[in-house]
Amino acid sequence: MIYLDYAASTPVDEEILANYCNVESKYFANITSMHMLGQKSNYMYEQISQDILKTLGLPDHEVIYTSGATEANNIGLFGIANKYSGGTIITTKVEHPSVAEVMQSLESRFNVIYLDINADGIIDIEELKKVISKDTILVSIMWVNNVIGTIQPIKDVIKVMKDYPKAKLLVDATQGIGKIRPDFNLADVDMFTFSTHKIYGPKGSGCLIKKKGIELLKYIQGSHAQHNLRPGTFDLALVSSTGLAIKKCMANLDSHYKYTKELYMYLYNGLSSIKEVVINSPLKYNSFNCLNISIFNKGKFVKSETVLHYLEQSDIYVSIGSSCSSKLAKPEATVLALTKDMDRSYAAVRISISYLTTKEEIDTLINALRKYGEIYV
Ligand code: PMP
Repeated sequence: MIYLDYAASTPVDEEILANYCNVESKYFANITSMHMLGQKSNYMYEQISQDILKTLGLPDHEVIYTSGATEANNIGLFGIANKYSGGTIITTKVEHPSVAEVMQSLESRFNVIYLDINADGIIDIEELKKVISKDTILVSIMWVNNVIGTIQPIKDVIKVMKDYPKAKLLVDATQGIGKIRPDFNLADVDMFTFSTHKIYGPKGSGCLIKKKGIELLKYIQGSHAQHNLRPGTFDLALVSSTGLAIKKCMANLDSHYKYTKELYMYLYNGLSSIKEVVINSPLKYNSFNCLNISIFNKGKFVKSETVLHYLEQSDIYVSIGSSCSSKLAKPEATVLALTKDMDRSYAAVRISISYLTTKEEIDTLINALRKYGEIYV
C-alpha cells in the first residue's frame, strides 16, 4: 500500500496512541469535578496547555481544545463576527471550506472581500493594503494551502494589520503546523487553528490558540469550560495526544522538512518528465508537502476521479482536490483560482507526502503515471 494522502490525514504515531490509551484509562475523571481525581485530570490539562504554548513560543496566548480545525475556525470566526452587526471582513478565494462556508454565511451581514491569488499561488499583499480599512473587523488567511501547498505571506499580512488594531487575524495553520517553520512570529497572530490528526495524532481533536486579550462571543452554549468558549466535557486523552503530537513534530521539524523537501523535488522532477502530467502547484512559495497535478491525455484533461481510481488499482492512494470536498463533482476551487482553467481544475489530483514516504514509493507512483498514456490510448 502506498499512501500519498498525508494532507487529508496521517496515521497515528505509535507512541501517541500508547499515550492516548494510558491517559484514557487512568485519567477518566472530569476536570471540572471537585474531588481529587478530577483535580488530577485538571492539573494534567493545565500542564499540557502550558507545554504547548511553551513549545510554540506563545507566552500571551491560551489554548481552546476543539474537535478539530473545522470547529476551531468556526469558534474563532463567528466569535469575532458575532460581536458586530456590520463592517468588512477580508479572506481569500482559496480557504478551506471550514473558513469559506463561514464567510458565505456572513455575507448577508458583512462586506466580505475575497482576495485572489497570483500565478505563484499566493495573495498579492498590495491588494490587502487596498481593501483593508478602519472598518475591517476580521481577516482570515490560511498559512499553507491544503490543495496546492503554497505558503501565504502571513508575515506581510501581520505587518499591514499593525495599523488596523480593530481587525483581528485568524490564520488556519492546519497544513503548516509541525511541517514547516514559520517565517513570522506565531506570537503576533491573534488566533490560529489546527487539527491533531494531520500531525500523527488521533482524529476528532484540534485547537484554537488565541491571544489572551481577544474577546470572542461564545458560539456554543453550555458551561464556562475552556475560557468560557468551548463548553462540554472533553476527552483529556485527546488533549494529551495533541500535546504530544505538537512536542514530537516540533522536535523533528527541521529534519522532517529537509527530508520531505528533497523527496518532493524528486517527485516534481520525475512527474515533470511525463508528457501527460501538467503540474498545478507553483514552486516559489511551496511547503513541499503537497503536489497538485492534472493529467492531459489525447487532447483533453482526464477527470480527477479517473486518475484516482487508476492509481488505486496499483494500491496507490492520492486525493482529488481537498479531501473534504472530494465527493462533490465540482471543479477544484484553488486550482481554478490559480489557473482559471475549468477542465484543468476538474482534473486536479493532489499527491501529499510526509517524512514516512520513501523514494521507492515515489518511483512506483511515477512509473504508474508514466504508463497512463500507454494504457489509455
Ligand atoms: N483547514 C485546512 C487547511 C485543512 O486542510 C483542513 C482539513 N482538510 C481543515 C481546516 C479541517 O480540518 P478537520 O477536518 O480536521 O476539522
